[in-house]
Amino acid sequence: MKLTIGHLYPDLLNLYGDRGNIQCFCKRLQWRGIDCEVIPYLSGDTVDFDTLDIVFLGGGSDREQEIVCQYLKNIRESFLNYIENDGVVLAVCGGYQLLGKYYQTDKKKIEGLSILDITSEWDQPRLIGNIVLNSPLSSRSVVGFENHAGRTNIGSHMPFGTVVRGHGNNGTSSQEGVIYKNVVGTYLHGPLLPKNPEICDYLLNCALKRKYGEEIELAPLDDTLENKANKVIAERQE
Ligand code: GLN
Repeated sequence: MKLTIGHLYPDLLNLYGDRGNIQCFCKRLQWRGIDCEVIPYLSGDTVDFDTLDIVFLGGGSDREQEIVCQYLKNIRESFLNYIENDGVVLAVCGGYQLLGKYYQTDKKKIEGLSILDITSEWDQPRLIGNIVLNSPLSSRSVVGFENHAGRTNIGSHMPFGTVVRGHGNNGTSSQEGVIYKNVVGTYLHGPLLPKNPEICDYLLNCALKRKYGEEIELAPLDDTLENKANKVIAERQE
């Protein structure tokens, strides 16, 4: 068995160790004897979604998002088709905002893919700090680090989690991120997956099921270290 991961625009969207999410996907597959290939698509490259099982989009500054938005226009139809056909996507922060309709910065409006029915608007202060959520995708608290100026309104979408500590989508709704089909969009950097292995395995399960047409039981791993790292943030008094 094998999964192929497409890393979209690592030359532009690469904040706060987001690349670690890809390493986490690969390691947790390899530890179970499942092959993993990572294809980095640099800005301007043609993306062949038919070959991909997981797509990852990381965070970026407003300037980088503005550049990426031009490239996204060219792949919108095939990306939409991939998502509607249950393709797995993890999109973090700037990447998450770009799945929506737009991100209005203090200077201009950056058009998104309009795949998610969400909008983001720049405001001050930046929402920065450790964040803890309850998520339907994990029996443990989901922890991460957020740093964004954008305030995101997710309309009637299902959130990725409910904020226990931190700011989340906009600092007021108590919601964080979005779950849509097999897409998880979130503001959580850290990177997200190493400290939240259940989320990683959830996405791997979705990708394996889509590719092989049946539920594939992932062998349990020793997550003692991962869970310790998670607990430190979940229980930290700030
Ligand atoms: N530039 C966006 C914002 O500030 C996204 C930042 C990020 O990806 N960390 O809201």
